[in-house]
Amino acid sequence: MDAGYQTKVLICGDCKEEFVFTIAAQEYFAEKGYNEDPKLCKSCYMQRKRDKKGLGRDSTVTMDGVTTDQLYLPNE
Ligand SMILES: [Zn+2]
Repeated sequence: MDAGYQTKVLICGDCKEEFVFTIAAQEYFAEKGYNEDPKLCKSCYMQRKRDKKGLGRDSTVTMDGVTTDQLYLPNE
């Protein structure tokens, strides 16, 4: 895809709320080779991640230095 990302508004597949897929997150996705848009909003994603991996309740999770405020990931 060409450079020149635009912020996208997506609908969460879980809570059906709108959420923003930021340019920073899109660039991160592209770097990682993900072709699909995220399917979950940040809170649902984080919830699932917590459920799956049992991360500490209070920990601030980062992905390769990108804070979760900027980033959502799809189910893998
Ligand atoms: Zn959601």
